[in-house]
Amino acid sequence: MSPITHFLVGWVGGERFVPSLRDKGLIALAGVLPDVDGLGIVVDFTTRRLGWAPTDFYQTYHHMLAHGLPAALLIAVAAAAFARCKLAVLLLAFAAVHLHLLCDIAGSRGTTAADVWPIYYLAPFSLTPEILWSGQWPLVGWQNTLITVVLLLTVLRVSARRGYSPLGLFSARGDAALAAVMRRWFGPWRSQP
Ligand SMILES: [Zn+2]
Repeated sequence: MSPITHFLVGWVGGERFVPSLRDKGLIALAGVLPDVDGLGIVVDFTTRRLGWAPTDFYQTYHHMLAHGLPAALLIAVAAAAFARCKLAVLLLAFAAVHLHLLCDIAGSRGTTAADVWPIYYLAPFSLTPEILWSGQWPLVGWQNTLITVVLLLTVLRVSARRGYSPLGLFSARGDAALAAVMRRWFGPWRSQP
C-alpha cells in the first residue's frame, strides 16, 4: 500500500493506547518506515533520466531490507528511544510494522496477476520463510483507495470527538482549527469522548 495508507493504519491502530501526540506520531511513523527500502526508486529514476548507467535499486532492495522481523525490531527500538511511554511505543511500533507487512501482503501487487510481492520475513538475513498471498490485489486497486478513505474518515471523526489528529504533529493551531470544523461536520453523529 502507499506510505500515506501505512501512516494512517499505524495512526488509527495505535493512537488510542498512548496519551502523548509525539508517541502517537512515532507509532504511525513506524508503520511507514519499512518503505524506506523502496527509496532506491528515486535513484533509478534519476539515472535513467540523466542517461547514466541504469540502476535497479528498487527491484533489488524493495521488500528485501526493511520488510521483515529484523527491521521490525530495529524500528521498534528506535521509536521507543524517542518516546515518552517507551514500553508501549516499543510494542505498538513493532505491531505497526507488522500491520504494514500484512497490508503489503494484501494489496501491493503490480499490474499483472503474476506480479505478486512476497514478504521475506527474515530478510535481509534469509529468504525463508517467504510469505505471499495469491489473492493479493493491485497497489492501485480500488480496495486500497477504499481503505484509505475509511481510515481518513476515522481520523477526522477522532478529531471531532477528541480534538486531535496527525496534523497536530506539525501545527497545534491547525489541529485545533481542524477539530473545530470536524465538530461541525460530524456534530449530529458525534458521541461524547
Ligand atoms: Zn511496504
